[in-house]
Amino acid sequence: MIEFEHVSLPQRVLFATGGARGNLAGQIETLGARRVMVIAGEGERDLARTVADGLPVVRWHHEVVMHVPVEVAERAREIAAADGVDALVCIGGGSTTGLAKAVALTSGLPIVAVPTTYAGSEATNVWGMTEGARKTTGVDDKVLPRAIVYDASLMLTLPVELSVASGLNALAHCVDSMWAPRADPIDRALAAEGIRALRIGLPLVVKEPTGAEGREHALYGAYLSARAFASAGSGLHHKICHVLGGMFNLPHAQTHAVVLPYVLAFNAPYADDARRLIAAAFDVSAEPGSASDPDGAVTGLNNLRAQLNAPRSLRDLGMPEDGIAAAAEAVLAAVPPRNPRPVTRENITELLHAAWSGTEGTDAR
Ligand code: NAD
Repeated sequence: MIEFEHVSLPQRVLFATGGARGNLAGQIETLGARRVMVIAGEGERDLARTVADGLPVVRWHHEVVMHVPVEVAERAREIAAADGVDALVCIGGGSTTGLAKAVALTSGLPIVAVPTTYAGSEATNVWGMTEGARKTTGVDDKVLPRAIVYDASLMLTLPVELSVASGLNALAHCVDSMWAPRADPIDRALAAEGIRALRIGLPLVVKEPTGAEGREHALYGAYLSARAFASAGSGLHHKICHVLGGMFNLPHAQTHAVVLPYVLAFNAPYADDARRLIAAAFDVSAEPGSASDPDGAVTGLNNLRAQLNAPRSLRDLGMPEDGIAAAAEAVLAAVPPRNPRPVTRENITELLHAAWSGTEGTDAR
């Protein structure tokens, strides 16, 4: 029986390599905006000047900090109000999009997002801010960008290591969307196509970082991954990464890249449909299965990770080993409903320990 409720978020998506400047100008015209605030981190300053050239910009804002500290959000809000801004353009990764969302949350200003990583925040109505070490997230349609302008040529400068981590962050959105609390058949279809696109694109990015083909596939996959994630919600993988990122101040994309194979190995034996969809998307039909990985979903992910030389352990990212027990408690308190496998203190501690030390995540049982 097929029965579900699915919400598609209202958003225009323009995807064209080399088309960012023209498409962005078109969206600003559509909005009728006359006083634009461009938000871009220091590193993306020059890129932003090129992409937003010709727009009616009243403010270039470059104070961007990962996880959007509230004081950074407050300053940007005050500037936007003082300058009488009527539209926000964010050009950058998830941190930059996050700041634009924080401004939109209180002002209701429309956002046009021009992403330069594979984080996917541009396709969700989720905002996040931090106060001290505490990260708060929420859902509000006001923060959903009205339009996304994707241009794979903007990714050519993203270093390979960061591209891999960010691409695996997108892959994690796909995998987690298979069993997240609101996962439905449309999310799974988007996620499966996202895995396929990322599986094709990311090895090409590593092989030829300045080639358009890999960058386009990876970016297309990243968009699909975010669409799936926005609808399905946070599954076990995202809850774990949220806990670890907050407790130990770990880098966002890299943490996702390390943890993903362990969560897939943990849940896959208990999630037959998801496992088969993931395995098919990885195109592992020729691989022999095993008792704990009958369709080769875990093998598919691990094969891809090997090609990408993906980050391997939480230890390498700076997490202390004596933090595992506290992290396990925090994850236990945050386990999402309907996770395919029951989570216990013992099995989550085992998972975290394996991810910390970087032992291959083929079977965490
Ligand atoms: P990021 O935005 O912090 O960027 C990482 C680094 O890459 C920065 O130093 C940036 O200057 C650099 N960079 C970005 N684009 C570049 C380019 N094209 N060339 C060269 N350098 C470039 O990292 P991220 O992983 O994109 O985003 C992480 C943040 O996004 C986290 O705070 C996370 O919580 C948030 N996020 C939110 C959602 C959501 O739905 N709200 C979804 C995903 C991520």
